[in-house]
Amino acid sequence: MPDIECDVLIVGSGIGGLTSAIAARMAGLEALVVEQDLLIGGPSSASNGMLWLPNSPLMLREKVPDSRRAALDYLANFVDDGDPSSCPERRAAFVDGVAPLVALYESRNIPLHLCEGYPDHYDTLPGGHATGRAVETEVIDAEKLGTWKRRIRPQSYPIPARASEWARLGRTESTWDGRIGAARLRWRSLAARVRAQKLLSAGAALQARLLLAALQLGARISTRTALLSLEYNNGRVCGAMIDCDSWHRRVHVRHGVVIATGRIPQPSPLPSADGDAVTGMLGLGAGTGWMNEDWRFLRLASEQARPATTVLTALGKPHLIIVGRDGRRFVDEAAPPMEVGSASLALEKASDASPAAWAIFDARHRSRYRFGPIAPGRIPRQRLQDGSLVRAATLDALARECGIDPTGLEATINRWNVMAGRGIDDDFGKGASSYDRYHGDPAHAPNPCMGPISRGPFYAVPLRAESLGTCGGVTVDPFARVTRIDGTPISGLYAIGGCTAPLSGPHDVAPGFAAGVAAVFGMIAIRNMVS
Ligand SMILES: Cc1cc2nc3c(=O)[nH]c(=O)nc-3n(C[C@H](O)[C@H](O)[C@H](O)COP(=O)(O)OP(=O)(O)OC[C@H]3O[C@@H](n4cnc5c(N)ncnc54)[C@H](O)[C@@H]3O)c2cc1C
Repeated sequence: MPDIECDVLIVGSGIGGLTSAIAARMAGLEALVVEQDLLIGGPSSASNGMLWLPNSPLMLREKVPDSRRAALDYLANFVDDGDPSSCPERRAAFVDGVAPLVALYESRNIPLHLCEGYPDHYDTLPGGHATGRAVETEVIDAEKLGTWKRRIRPQSYPIPARASEWARLGRTESTWDGRIGAARLRWRSLAARVRAQKLLSAGAALQARLLLAALQLGARISTRTALLSLEYNNGRVCGAMIDCDSWHRRVHVRHGVVIATGRIPQPSPLPSADGDAVTGMLGLGAGTGWMNEDWRFLRLASEQARPATTVLTALGKPHLIIVGRDGRRFVDEAAPPMEVGSASLALEKASDASPAAWAIFDARHRSRYRFGPIAPGRIPRQRLQDGSLVRAATLDALARECGIDPTGLEATINRWNVMAGRGIDDDFGKGASSYDRYHGDPAHAPNPCMGPISRGPFYAVPLRAESLGTCGGVTVDPFARVTRIDGTPISGLYAIGGCTAPLSGPHDVAPGFAAGVAAVFGMIAIRNMVS
C-alpha cells in the first residue's frame, strides 16, 4: 500500500479530534482523521453533549454576567499553580480560547445555546457561577449526514432530548415546567416518527454536527483505522504508522500529529514497541500527570450497562438520603457525582461490603421522581423480586431486609426529618448550593433537596461506587503541545481531551468541563501548528 501524505494527522473522532479537523480545514490544512472504531464520535457521542465555556459570547448575548477573571479564579480553586498540566498560562489559554471556538462553531452552522441554569459544580467557591456556563447544541436529523448517517456512535439518552431538557424530566410529576418539557419531547418524538426523521441529541447531535462540518470542509476521515506508532525524525514527530482495516500504512505529516484518543484505559499502558497512541507518546518521553487518581461515580448496584443510567437527579430530590450499613449518612446526596462516588468508594473499601450504600426514600419520592430507569409511580415487580428495589411498610422492616443497622437508621431518619422541617442540613449541607438545588424539586420548600422520610411504604435501592479509570494523561503546554518530564515540548506532537492530564486535576468541576476543554484545545493545537 502506498504511503499517505497530509498536513495534520488527527487520531480519534471525539469532540477534540473533530474540532481539530474543522480548525485545520478552516486554516487551509490538509487534514486526515483516523478513528479505530467503525463509528464516529467516541464516548463524546454518548455524553450529555454539554461544553463548559466560561465567559463566552453566548453569555454576553444573553446578558448572563461572567468575566475572564471569575473564570480564572474558579479554575484556580482546584490545582496548585505549579501543576505541569494546569499552570496559570494553560488555564488562561483555555479561557481566552472560548470566544474563538464559539466563532469557529457558529461559522460552520453549529448552533449553541446556554444550558438553562445548570450551575458550576462548586458554585459557592470563588469565581463559581450559580446559573452556569455550559452550552449545548440542538438536535439534528441524521439524514443530513447523507451516507454517513449510520456512522455516528449512538447517544445514551433513549429520547431526542438535550441535556437541559433531560434534567427537566426529573421534575415531570412535580412541576408544570417538567410537564411542559415532557410534552414537548413527546411531540418532538412523534413528529420525527411521522416525518421519518432519525433525531440525534446531546453528545450524538454535537458529534454529528461536527462531522458534517468537517466533511463539508473536505476533511478526510478514515474509520477502522488505528494509530500504531509515531515516527520521530530530525527532532520532530514527522509521521505515523496506521493500521487501516488490517493494512499497515505510513503517514507523512507536514505540520504535526494531534492525539485525541480519549481517556487512557486501565491498567495504564507502559512504553512499548507495539503500542498505540499513548504508548507512542510515552515512548517519546512524554510526561504524565494525575495517573494515580481516578474518576468515580455512583450507580445502581444491579446494573451492568455502560454508560450507566444516571441516578444523579433522583439523589438530589427531597425525601431521600443515602446511608451505609450502619444506617448513617456519609455524604451530601446532591453533591457532584465525583464527590458522591468518592465518598461511597471510601465507605465500600472501609466496610469491605458491597453494596455498602443504600438510597432510602419514602412513598412521596417514589410517586413523584424518576429513579434512574424506574419511572415515577412505578414499582416493577421484577425489581422487587431481584432485590434491586426493596419495599417495606416500616423503616425497621426495611433496614432488616437490607442488612442495615435498624437502630442507626432510625436515629438518622429522626435527625433528618427534624433538619428537613427547617430546610437546613447541618451535617452535609444538602441543598445549600445552586448545584445541589438544580437537581432538587423547585416546587418543594423550604429546601428543594430536603423532605422528611415519613410516609410509607418505604423503599431502598442498593448502590455501588465505580471507578471509570484514571483521570490522568500526558502533560501538555498552553498550546496543546505534548511536553517531556522536563517541561520541554515534543515538536510536532499535540494532545487534547481525555488522554491529557486534566486542567482541573482530579476534580469534576462543571457540567461539560472535559468536553469544553477538549474542544478549545483542539482548536488551539491547530492554531499553534500554523502560527
Ligand atoms: C455517558 C458519559 C457522560 C459524560 N459526561 C460528562 C460530563 O458531564 N462532563 C464532562 O466534562 N465530560 C463528560 N464525559 C466525558 C466527555 O464526553 C469526554 O471526556 C470528552 O468528550 C472528551 O472526548 P475526547 O475528545 O477526548 O474523545 P473521546 O470522545 O474520548 O473519543 C476518542 C476517540 O479516539 C478513538 N481512538 C482511541 N485510540 C485510537 C487509536 N489508537 N487510533 C485511532 N482512534 C483511536 C476512540 O475510538 C474514540 O472514538 C462523559 C462521557 C460519557 C461517556
